[in-house]
Amino acid sequence: MRTGLYIFDTKERDLKEVCAKNGFEVSIYCCGPTVYRDAHVGNLRTFLLGDLIKRTLTFSGFESNLIQNITDVGHMAEDLVGNEIGEDKLLAQSKVEAIDPFEIARKYEANFHFDLAKLNVIPANSYPKASETIDLMLKLIAELIASDHAYLGSDGCVYFSATSYPRYGEISGNKLDSLKPGYRHEHVEDGAKRFHADWALWKAAANRTEMIWDSPWGPGFPGWHIECSAMSLHFLEGNVDLHLGGIDLRFPHHENERAQSNSAVGYEVVENWVHGEHLLFEGRKMSKSAGNVVLLNDVIAKGLDPLSLRLCFLENRYRSQMDLTWESLRAADATLERWRKKMLQWQDEGEIENRFVSDFCDGSLTDIKEDLDTPRALQKLRRLEKDELVSGATKAACFNSLDAIYGLEFAREPKAKAEATPEILDLLEKRSSARAAKDFGQSDELRDKLLKLGISIKDSSAGQDWDWI
Ligand code: AMP
Ligand code: ZN
Repeated sequence: MRTGLYIFDTKERDLKEVCAKNGFEVSIYCCGPTVYRDAHVGNLRTFLLGDLIKRTLTFSGFESNLIQNITDVGHMAEDLVGNEIGEDKLLAQSKVEAIDPFEIARKYEANFHFDLAKLNVIPANSYPKASETIDLMLKLIAELIASDHAYLGSDGCVYFSATSYPRYGEISGNKLDSLKPGYRHEHVEDGAKRFHADWALWKAAANRTEMIWDSPWGPGFPGWHIECSAMSLHFLEGNVDLHLGGIDLRFPHHENERAQSNSAVGYEVVENWVHGEHLLFEGRKMSKSAGNVVLLNDVIAKGLDPLSLRLCFLENRYRSQMDLTWESLRAADATLERWRKKMLQWQDEGEIENRFVSDFCDGSLTDIKEDLDTPRALQKLRRLEKDELVSGATKAACFNSLDAIYGLEFAREPKAKAEATPEILDLLEKRSSARAAKDFGQSDELRDKLLKLGISIKDSSAGQDWDWI
């Protein structure tokens, strides 16, 4: 089934039409978060790419099935150049926070869903967790061993034999003969791997006591790449029409996933490898060391509508390395407010010209179906806003209809402060007192509680003010 939606395929290095191989729904797999910390706005940009595609397909009348995994085991920490340095990110964070690793996972998983809801992301069809699908991975690893694509190393780990998949490297261009020993592959004892670019599918527990499972090769835990092969093959029944992730996942994550999945089933599993470019913040790569990691809660804490982040992303092509700034977020916030106010006026101005609305929406959809050119479609929306020849009611109808793709809540009316519940009023009162008493720990705790209830706080010299998010 053809959809008329064209997206750039990293492997083919060209635009490719999205087609549903099974004839009734487009199957999409999006690499999900590693839940050892809050997702930053860069991660969220990649997750919103999945939402934009899903919404575009729905608007065009097609069904989709989006699976997004939750990595809660087996993602190792990396050094500055990307080499795995042996510690599971979840276990490392569990030591930092002194709580059980599964509790860490559930805490950040809940925060991830909270962020997605604030960004109006339509939930994926399923969010399978790595820790709950170990059996799928064990089965796949056993199949790969049986077909000689994998072997048990002398260190008790199971490795994928990179040379057993001759087409390795087609996504990223990193062919096996050009890979230097050690690059991006975990360090192991000499002789455990047969070839330097082989990677672990199953890691022996060794000294590790938490987050380990029994396997035919002894207790241990899965590698990160096998998780995505096992889940995509299982939940999407062996055919992935679109596979999404950030550009950094091209290599080795997606290259390894492709080798594993294709070797297991004997055909090309993924039709189209789609990668979102990275987000910069104020001109620099977002990183802890640069001190410029921004979370959605930071955006909300500044009194900005979380959907202003969504608008900023839509105003940049997913394949451009976009630079987000506080200034662009403030501008997007002001634009949203202006549009929502105008929507209230427009509704009562004149008649809806239905023909115009359907032509306008078709035109926007055509732009978006051309490799998700939302910046172009939004420029047209801005021109429509100013067009004096079009009735207000018609403009409102166009905005409303296209909101099914943009997800910006154009028709949202400001919520009255009078709608605050007694619980909210009580927390606001307590926070104000805590702040006056300079008890900042308590005041921050109350701010977080209020945030969860949909309230953002603004502090100024005049005191505490608040609004609905
Ligand atoms: P992680 O939680 O580290 O597994 O990453 C989740 C997703 O975010 C992956 O698809 C990454 O490729 C993506 N990602 C990481 N950093 C950025 C960034 N700065 N901009 C956009 N996407 C990113
Ligand atoms: Zn993945």
